[in-house]
Amino acid sequence: MAAQLPDLPAVTRLSPRVIRVLGGNPSKYTLQGTNTYLIGTGRKRLLIDTGHGIPAWIDSIKTVLTDEKAEVSKVILTHWHPDHVGGVADLKALQPHVEVLKHRPGEGWDGKATGFGDDAEIQVEGATLKATYTPGHAIDHMVFRLAEEDALFTGDNVLGHGTAVFEDLAAYMASLKTMSTLFDGRAYPGHGEVITEGKSKVLEYIEHRKQREVEALEVLGRRREDDKQDWASMELVKVIYAQYPEHLHQPAEGSLLHVLRKLEGEGKVRKAGSRWELVEGGKLYRKRSAEAMLLEFRDDMVTLLVGPYETRMAVHASHLRNSSEFSKLALQKWWQEGEERTIRLPEERPDDFRYYLHYLYKQGIATEPLQSPAGFDIAERYAFLSDLYLLGERMQDRDFKIAIIDCMIETNQLRNECNDTECPHIDAVTTVYEGTPASSPMRRLLVDMYVRQGDATWFASEDMRGGHPDFMADLVAALYRVARERSCAEEEFLKCGNYHEYTDDFLGPL
Ligand SMILES: [Zn+2]
Ligand SMILES: [Zn+2]
Repeated sequence: MAAQLPDLPAVTRLSPRVIRVLGGNPSKYTLQGTNTYLIGTGRKRLLIDTGHGIPAWIDSIKTVLTDEKAEVSKVILTHWHPDHVGGVADLKALQPHVEVLKHRPGEGWDGKATGFGDDAEIQVEGATLKATYTPGHAIDHMVFRLAEEDALFTGDNVLGHGTAVFEDLAAYMASLKTMSTLFDGRAYPGHGEVITEGKSKVLEYIEHRKQREVEALEVLGRRREDDKQDWASMELVKVIYAQYPEHLHQPAEGSLLHVLRKLEGEGKVRKAGSRWELVEGGKLYRKRSAEAMLLEFRDDMVTLLVGPYETRMAVHASHLRNSSEFSKLALQKWWQEGEERTIRLPEERPDDFRYYLHYLYKQGIATEPLQSPAGFDIAERYAFLSDLYLLGERMQDRDFKIAIIDCMIETNQLRNECNDTECPHIDAVTTVYEGTPASSPMRRLLVDMYVRQGDATWFASEDMRGGHPDFMADLVAALYRVARERSCAEEEFLKCGNYHEYTDDFLGPL
C-alpha cells in the first residue's frame, strides 16, 4: 500500500501560514510518515506534532527555521502516540525555550507538557488555532481549527489516504460528527496529503463507518439456515465477507466486533452468551451493494491495561503479533472468543512496558531512559536491563531479549572504558536467575562477566554471599573450567552472538 502513495517532499509550503515538515518515518501505518506543521507568519511560530524522533525530521526543522528566520515558541501535540510525540526531546535540544502543550498531560505519554482544554485558543502572528477535544483514535486526541483559513488540523482522526484506526468506535463517530461542524475549508491530516475538500472527507468517513453498521444490522435481521436469528460474530463475518478469502475473515471479525459493540451501546443489538441478535423491534435493514463491503485492514489498535492500576496503552496489533509469542497467543484467543481488543498485563510495570512498546516501534532500546536522560548510574542501568530482560522472557520476544543482551554488553564496555570493571550487582543477578530457565543466555553472560571481571574480595560481603544458589553453582563450575583450561580466549569474550537465542531452523552464518 505504502508503495502506491504519492511522494511527498520532506518540506512543503502549503499556504502563506502553513509549512508541512515530514517526520521521516514512512511505514504501512504512518503512510508517508507523520506530518508536522509549522504555523504562523512572524518570527515566533507554532508547531503541531513532532514525528517519531527520526534525525531527518529535526534536520528539516533546523533548515526551515533558518530559512524562515523563525523559532518555535510552542509545540502542540494532537495526541500521545509515539509517532507524534517522539521528536519532542530533539526539538527541546534545538529550541530550549519551547513550550510543550498537550491535552491531558501524563495521559499515554510521560513527557513534560502544559495542559490545555477544549476550546483553548493558541495564537501567533498570522495564525489563530482553536482546540476541540475529539477522542476515539486516542483518549487525549485534539483537533485544531485555523481561523484564518477556516481549515482543520485533523490529527489521526482523518488521514490523507485510506481510513483511520480507532480504539473506541462510538467516541470516534461522535468526534467525526463534531469535526464536520467545525470548518469548511481544507483538512491538514496527521498523515498523508492535504485534503482540499476537508469537510466532505469527514462526511465520507462518517458514511463509510455507517455502512459497516448497516451491513451488520442487515445480516442480523436475517434468519440463519436453521431458522434461528442469533449469530456468532464469525457466522456474521462469513456472510458479510463471503466473497473474501478465508484468511481475511479473522481480521474482519475484529473490525466487525467494534461495530457490534457500538450498536450494543446504542441499544440496537444485544449479546446473549457469545451470540448477537437484534433488539426486539429493531427494524430490518435492506442489503447494501456488494461493493460497499470493503475490508478494514487498518482497524488494528489494541488496548493494553498494564500494571495493578491498569494504565492504558495502545499499540498496533500487528506490532505485537509479529514480535511476541505471548501476544500472538493472546490475540488469537481474543479473536476466537470475540473478546474486547484488550490485553491485561497486571503483573507488568507500566514504566518498563513503555520501553518495550518504544522498542517495538523503533526496533532499538533507548540507550538512555526515556524520562531521565541525564545522570544515569551504570549499576542502575544493569538492574534496569535485567528487569527488561525478564519482561522479554515473559512476552516470549526473542528479538527483544537479544537487544537487551547487546545493551548489557555495551554497558559493560562503557564500564571498561572508565577502567572500572564492576559487574552487575548481585541483586540484579538474582532477579535474572529468578525469572529465567537454566539454559538462559543471560545467565551465561552474567557468569562470564563475574568470571572475567569479578574480584575475590567481593565474597567478603554479605550481599555476595546471599546470591542465588544456582548462580553460585554456575559461577563455581565456570571458575573450575577456567582454572583447568584457561578457555576464556580474548576474542571470544563477551561476543554478542554467543548469547543470542536462535530458532531451530537457524543454520548459522554462511
Ligand atoms: Zn495516532
Ligand atoms: Zn499517527
